[in-house]
Amino acid sequence: MDRAKARFYINQRLYWRAAALAALGLLLCWSAYSLSFSAFKRAEFDRASVRARLYEAVLAEALDRFQHLPFVLAEDPGIRAAVAGAAPERLNARLAEFARRAGVEALYVMDKTGLTVAASNYEQPLTFLGQSYGFRPYFKAAMEGRQGEFFAIGATTSRPGYFISAGVPGPDGEGIIGVVAIKIDLGALAQVWDTPGEKVFVANADGVIVLASDQRLRYRTLSPLSEARRAAVSAARQFGEEPLAPLDWTSDGEGDVRLDSRGYLTVQTPLPRLGWSLYFLTENAPIQQRAILTALAMAALLAGAFLGYLLIRARRVRQALRISQADRAALRSINRRLEKEIEDRRTAERRLARTQSELDRASRLAALGRLAASVTHELGQPISAMRTYLTAEEIGAAPSDLTLLNRLGGLVARMEHITRQLRFFATDGGTQADEVDLERVIDGALGLVRHDLDAAGIQPSLELPGAPVTVRGDRLRLEQVLVNLLRNAHLAMQENGASELAVTMTTADGFAIISVKDRGPGLGNLSIDELREPFHTSRPSGEGMGLGLSISAAILEDHGGSLRAETRQGGGASFDMLVPLIGGV
Ligand code: ADP
Repeated sequence: MDRAKARFYINQRLYWRAAALAALGLLLCWSAYSLSFSAFKRAEFDRASVRARLYEAVLAEALDRFQHLPFVLAEDPGIRAAVAGAAPERLNARLAEFARRAGVEALYVMDKTGLTVAASNYEQPLTFLGQSYGFRPYFKAAMEGRQGEFFAIGATTSRPGYFISAGVPGPDGEGIIGVVAIKIDLGALAQVWDTPGEKVFVANADGVIVLASDQRLRYRTLSPLSEARRAAVSAARQFGEEPLAPLDWTSDGEGDVRLDSRGYLTVQTPLPRLGWSLYFLTENAPIQQRAILTALAMAALLAGAFLGYLLIRARRVRQALRISQADRAALRSINRRLEKEIEDRRTAERRLARTQSELDRASRLAALGRLAASVTHELGQPISAMRTYLTAEEIGAAPSDLTLLNRLGGLVARMEHITRQLRFFATDGGTQADEVDLERVIDGALGLVRHDLDAAGIQPSLELPGAPVTVRGDRLRLEQVLVNLLRNAHLAMQENGASELAVTMTTADGFAIISVKDRGPGLGNLSIDELREPFHTSRPSGEGMGLGLSISAAILEDHGGSLRAETRQGGGASFDMLVPLIGGV
């Protein structure tokens, strides 16, 4: 998998993880919201229930307080007399005094037609005195011997009130000759209920709101009134000219209501006396706000936890990175050590291989030495005998025989040359350690090959350092090396007819270097190691045995030096003989 793909997959995984975390966070926040909402709602509901009971108790107490007052008043002789037709002047004043002391709005007495014959508010402009209330249900109830109770808007005063009535029995104790009624003002009670965020109202059995903390709700209905009910209400003139319009009110029956498009939690408490119900409404919005706050707190908590997790993770990643960097550094150092060990081993192997090949060569040379020793020993005597015979024959020979003798002499000379070369391997070299002036070595070698070079038309150029160069070794053997190199150059140039030969001497790094450069065919791909192999030759049999470079390299190694060879740029070969300088300078 390439890097871009891997990164794509990693990113993909990260996105999925982030999405899952976000979804989980949202779910938790939502759960926090709904759990806290229902908890707050429950708490609010409990509180509302307590408050509703309180309001209900206050209202019930207000209604109960005067329940028996009309009944007691009906027994009053003055009232009885007034109903029976006596002058009411004194009674009116008494009733006013009663009303003031009892704290009721009005106290009045009607005859059996419903005409008010005495009233506590006799001095007020809107007095009940002279008014007929025969149409009121409470009057009818009292005339039938029951206690009348009624909530209505005053037909005279247009002020709402709660009416309680009792029948006045006749002088003989039989029949009812009139009605005593009291009117209680409940408006002041409802005004006290007004608290922000809360609504309290009382609806009658028809669903008409009779008392409300919010005055706008008064005389509105929770549901539209049926025509029959509307007619009955109108006949009793219960709510005066009020239109009794329905409220924008929906209830789910489980405490959640909507009033004028706002959500409320409601507790409904029945007031059994009149079939009324007290409604306590508290707004949902603050509960919702508190739940939202809780969800936000949860979100903040989660965000904090997530941030903490990220911080811890980042610290762990940093730590892991530090450890891995340390590991990498350790690995790198181990690697370096390993590489060095491998290099050391390779060097050792190379050294071993070199030693091995030197050993091989040494053992080959040793075998060659033994062979050379026996060959030169065995051939030495016969060849020198042949040379003696030939010399003796040449002395007394006829000129016609001389050609043959000369040819034989040449063959013997060649055999001598071969045995001379072989003798080198037969002896152990035995390098003499004299101080040798290399200039003399060069002179000597050039002297030995001059004849052949002249014959081939080769004029060697010579380049020497100004100061003498001395080494420790065997002059003759060093000369032999140089002669061999010069002769090889000569033979090589015979192949292509070139004649440019240069001999130079320099010093470098503690070595004297004598170079022999020709313009022959060069060395091809062959290295010095291949060229110096005994019996490696490109020459025809009898002309070369392939021992010259082998012997030369061995002589130089005896002197602590070496032989180098390369093909020159522009053609030809260059051979360098390196011999250590005395004192290494
Ligand atoms: P030989 O001369 O008897 O062949 P050497 O050991 O002196 O033996 O040389 C080995 C071979 O190296 C030669 O046969 C020749 O092929 C090659 N050689 C040596 N010197 C030169 C040179 N200057 N130019 C080209 N080839 C050379």
